[in-house]
Amino acid sequence: MEASALQRIADLAGAGHNLRNQVTVQLRTDEEGYLGRECPEQECLGYFKITPGTGIKGPAPCHCPYCGHSGDPKTFFTQDQIEYAQSVAFRKLTDAVFRDLKALEFEHKPKGPFGIGISMKVTQSPPRPIRYYREKQLETEVTCDTCGLRYAIYGVFGWCPDCGIHNSLQILIKNFELAGKELILTESADKDMARHLIEDALENIVSAFDGFGREVCRRKSADIHFQNLAGARRRVQEVFGFDFADGISSDDWRQAVRTFQKRHLLSHKMGVIDDEYIQKANDPVAIVGRRVQVGRVEVTTSIGIVEKLGRRLFAGMLHPSP
Ligand SMILES: [Zn+2]
Ligand SMILES: [Zn+2]
Repeated sequence: MEASALQRIADLAGAGHNLRNQVTVQLRTDEEGYLGRECPEQECLGYFKITPGTGIKGPAPCHCPYCGHSGDPKTFFTQDQIEYAQSVAFRKLTDAVFRDLKALEFEHKPKGPFGIGISMKVTQSPPRPIRYYREKQLETEVTCDTCGLRYAIYGVFGWCPDCGIHNSLQILIKNFELAGKELILTESADKDMARHLIEDALENIVSAFDGFGREVCRRKSADIHFQNLAGARRRVQEVFGFDFADGISSDDWRQAVRTFQKRHLLSHKMGVIDDEYIQKANDPVAIVGRRVQVGRVEVTTSIGIVEKLGRRLFAGMLHPSP
């Protein structure tokens, strides 16, 4: 986002000699370098922040991260910014008019015993206050890995205000990286802690994929859950006509399904194997009533497989060539 184009609001035609035909008001960024933005769409009016100077160089349309509306960056000023700019412009205007009138002051002293003096004094009434404002605190900060824009939004998911790419895949990959770090920590942990970390990493992978998949489908007005991987694959095929697992082998698919079934046991059955798991997970070492085993290598491999599924889903649904 071009810094200079964004930070200025030109407003109010000037009347005095001290002003040209417009007043320029500089908007300041907040202490973290962000400038607030507001979607102009009446049903949305979503508030977000961007960092001028990051992202696409040169003029580019602004995209609302929440509803996807795109338009001229000049239409994305917040109500607070407009009120501030108007108050500053009004102050500049009245100051200029005052200076112009002040220059016309005159005083003719009375002459002779019966002379009448004429004078004009120009005084200024108390100035109208400047409407200062603070930008709001938001919940998620993102640096777009496509265009480099630094932005902040409510919630987690959104479209990049500069290049318009949806951040869901980027956030999915970030969550997988965190799960990978958990797995690295197991090297220096004792047995119980290592098991806890591995199982937690596995649960995080599934939750992240579920959140990602739901969000991507919601963008296309479909409500599909992804904790049951096989069910989600069928639903996406039915609704959107493509298979997000068409880029992986059947062995990899079986492993992904098993990973998701293990997570189901860990989240809902204290990790104890039941009949449903035996039917669905295709796990040759599983015995009903025993605790499910999750290996570190298995989780690492699953991350790679599920990432491929995520990339395919993202390309098929939102951005054909991310
Ligand atoms: Zn919007
Ligand atoms: Zn971007």
